[in-house]
Amino acid sequence: MAASRVPADKILTNDGSLAEAPIVIRFAYSFFFRTLLLALLFIGASASSLPAASRISDYQAVFIPFYDVDGMPLAAVRRYNRGDHPHFLVLDPQRFALSEMTAVQVLSSPPAGDEAWRHTPFSLALARQTSSPYPLQNDGLREAEYPVSGFFLTADLCPAKKPLDRGFFDATMGLPQKRPIPVALMISGLWIQRHEADLAWLKDQIGAGKLSITWVNHSFTHPYDPAAPLEKNFLLMHKTGFTDEVLSLERLLLERDITPSPFFRFPGLVSDRQLIESLRNLCLIPVGSNAWLAKGESPQAGSIILVHANGNEPEGIRRLLSFYDSQREAFRLGSAALLPLKEAFLTR
Ligand SMILES: [Zn+2]
Repeated sequence: MAASRVPADKILTNDGSLAEAPIVIRFAYSFFFRTLLLALLFIGASASSLPAASRISDYQAVFIPFYDVDGMPLAAVRRYNRGDHPHFLVLDPQRFALSEMTAVQVLSSPPAGDEAWRHTPFSLALARQTSSPYPLQNDGLREAEYPVSGFFLTADLCPAKKPLDRGFFDATMGLPQKRPIPVALMISGLWIQRHEADLAWLKDQIGAGKLSITWVNHSFTHPYDPAAPLEKNFLLMHKTGFTDEVLSLERLLLERDITPSPFFRFPGLVSDRQLIESLRNLCLIPVGSNAWLAKGESPQAGSIILVHANGNEPEGIRRLLSFYDSQREAFRLGSAALLPLKEAFLTR
């Protein structure tokens, strides 16, 4: 499959340019600036009588650390309009989770310095997982950062024509473990565009309390050329479009009322120093694997297990199901479990 660019109507073209734009926009924190911006936001909000829509526009990366009401540091990492209303996506560095907040909530909070942010668990984990030596394959988190008695299940949804492998989810939801059962789905934009009904089915499983899904960015177009060498394949084909690949997938999720997580899986697990540093500036932790089942790797305690839930790698699913069978008693006794991805990181 030849690589394709992000479709013209899907990319974020705030600045009208496809060139790599500055990805972190730091806001000055002078009292005057913040007061003025806050006043403009209030005026804007009162002048608009339109109901909030789910349409997301003007989506861009920012970095604004601030303190919540309990004095804990948070950071706004994306800014956008939902309908006519400015919002931020805010990263909680204790919970390794993003949530949506109004611009007024963020900009009326006391600012935090870089120093306070740098000592948070998320910031420390981000630094660890984006440090040298930048391998071409499988950079980032491959196993838990400390001993755990469980596994981290990650399932890729690369672009595919086949329907979602619901049998995989049924088997996972059938494990003898307390529900909801955690799974990280590495999701691409082109998969979403062809599988809206499957996405709705996944949301139904969450609504029914069966699954707890960590939505992990797997890029928008997931470029891949089976004839190209790794050094020029996957996202290394169009490095200048990397930020658009990341941000346009987040926007697609938010428009479907799905909140992304602060994690990223590189297509093919292929990256280089430049992409890893760009990812770090976007406040996303790369997630690799030490148990890609279709490649014959076996899960150990703490493994990040990799399978494909898009129907394209049945061998991986077959091996996962036999792994489930071998572990069923341990799951029943509670001595093994599937764990949420965020629990793979040291929290201090
Ligand atoms: Zn993939």
